[in-house]
Amino acid sequence: MSPPDAEATLCLSCAMCCNGALYAWVPAREDELDRLRAQDFPLEPIGEPPRTGWRQPCPKLQGTACTVYQDRPAACRKYACQVLGDLREGTVTLDEALAATATANGLAAAATATLDAGQSLPDIRRAFVPDAHPLSRAEAEQRLRVATLGLFLDRRFRRPDEEGSLAMSVIGTEEKGPQE
Ligand code: SF4
Ligand code: SF4
Repeated sequence: MSPPDAEATLCLSCAMCCNGALYAWVPAREDELDRLRAQDFPLEPIGEPPRTGWRQPCPKLQGTACTVYQDRPAACRKYACQVLGDLREGTVTLDEALAATATANGLAAAATATLDAGQSLPDIRRAFVPDAHPLSRAEAEQRLRVATLGLFLDRRFRRPDEEGSLAMSVIGTEEKGPQE
């Protein structure tokens, strides 16, 4: 299998960088705002100071496929997680990389099963900020599942130059990147 085919096979088994498991939002580049608006990306100011972007799960994701892949935004075009980087460098085989996405999918499914209608994984991570009320059993189990997913993604998917996902989501700066 050629490297691009291997990369496509890996990413189509995953979508963690698009479905809200790894990130809460994606920043848009100034020079592509018109194009993204024409593609109906739900752009809004996010973060502090506010920057223009869109929230995850990405509305352009269908299953595990990007529906605008050929014309995807710059932040997505430049992004590669640690697993994809390792595959490109040949430090892991495709089978080893697929084992990581299989584990991530299992943990993400367990976490997603606890969500109410309309809730997303980023919504739950934001609730990790200490709150006043004691947690119900269901809330505690939900946070445990989301944290377990986050810790696995930290260990296998986040590059060393990224901060820990849980800490980033708590302070609300969890963006897909890097962006120049
Ligand atoms: S998280 Fe990595 S392996 Fe998964 S879709 Fe994104 S780049 Fe591909
Ligand atoms: S535009 Fe495509 S690659 Fe970018 S976050 Fe959305 S689904 Fe993923």
